[in-house]
Amino acid sequence: MKLQEADAKSLLLAQGLPVPAWEVARSPAAARTAAERAFAVGAERVVVKAQVLIGGRGKAGGVKLAGSAEEAERVAAAILGMDIKGITVRKVLVAAAAEIVKEFYLAALIDRAARRVLLMGSAEGGVEIEQVAATTPEAIVRVHAQPYLGLTGGDARRLAFAMGLGAHWKAAAAVASGLYRTMTDCDADLVEINPLAIVREPGADGGPVERLVCLDAKITLDDSALPRHPEFEALRDLDEEDPTDVAARAEGINFIKLDGTIGCMVNGAGLAMTTMDLVKRAGGEPANFLDIGGGARADKVSAAMRLILADPKVTAILVNIFGGITRGDEVARGLIEARAAQARDVPMVVRIVGTNADAAAALLREARFATAATLDEAAAKAVAASRAAG
Ligand code: GDP
Ligand code: MN
Repeated sequence: MKLQEADAKSLLLAQGLPVPAWEVARSPAAARTAAERAFAVGAERVVVKAQVLIGGRGKAGGVKLAGSAEEAERVAAAILGMDIKGITVRKVLVAAAAEIVKEFYLAALIDRAARRVLLMGSAEGGVEIEQVAATTPEAIVRVHAQPYLGLTGGDARRLAFAMGLGAHWKAAAAVASGLYRTMTDCDADLVEINPLAIVREPGADGGPVERLVCLDAKITLDDSALPRHPEFEALRDLDEEDPTDVAARAEGINFIKLDGTIGCMVNGAGLAMTTMDLVKRAGGEPANFLDIGGGARADKVSAAMRLILADPKVTAILVNIFGGITRGDEVARGLIEARAAQARDVPMVVRIVGTNADAAAALLREARFATAATLDEAAAKAVAASRAAG
């Protein structure tokens, strides 16, 4: 699950990291009020930033500076409603604009090959790290955290020095440690600061001082760990989620959309993967991974059918149920109900074995469903039906 910049910044702030104050506004008028508050405490300019779950907002015109509250309102009016890579902007972040001296990149991520958390830093901040990796890979510093010790003080300092943070090494090492803590405390996959910036601010005596701050923040949480973080559920941005994903989660169905034409409805993750393999072996392409779970009842079958049919590319459906806790006749009833209610008529091939398979077969025969005794036969029939339809 991706977090909006403002929410990511809240998590960083909770770890004691240096993040400049901000407000979130959903209308130009609210952006103006937020800007007025920033100017009231001494800001010379404000920055207005689109809050969308996608990078490269700056380049797309979603990050703008304003010199007055009126200008902030105008800029917010331009950004709100803007389309950034297919996503409509519904809210903006408003903050006192920083006077940037230099931009760095710093991120904590999972290095699956090394089975460790990797801290990645670069003095080439502000630009996309993929671009730096492609053109000047030597400009990226990599330091692994240790499995039991975490990111040690020595590791953090080594990283800060190698990134060329000079006088700001202490602050940078503290940020690196904070990113590591955020990563482990929140069960994140990625915590990225780009730019981590040296900024110039008026000091206590009026003269300018330099400070290291997190100007942007991107956090991706590990979905599999969300059950142990109920507090993060409120951070889910439904505005930007695929409606099918939202519906699947609400129904407790494990659903992943793919590119093919054969919709698959299966119980059990292992069986679902096997079914996808056999569809491919039969010459077809699965349209999805779908595990309706154990003990699926008729209403869940209907919900799964709706999810599959929401994809216009689906031209045939393969149902593969192994009845254990799940009763075959319940599933058959669900399929009959679902087919009666479905918006478009897509050929369906059904294989149900295990608990109450005989009762299921009788129901399906009566309702004139195409059935199959083996999985290979079911896959072959589904592929043939899909070809005939497409
Ligand atoms: P992204 O493009 O989605 O990564 O959004 P960022 O928050 O990283 O902003 C993009 C760029 O806008 C940064 O690299 C900065 O150069 C610039 N920017 C962002 N915030 C400020 C700010 O407070 N002051 C100034 N001067 N520039 C900023
Ligand atoms: Mn950025």
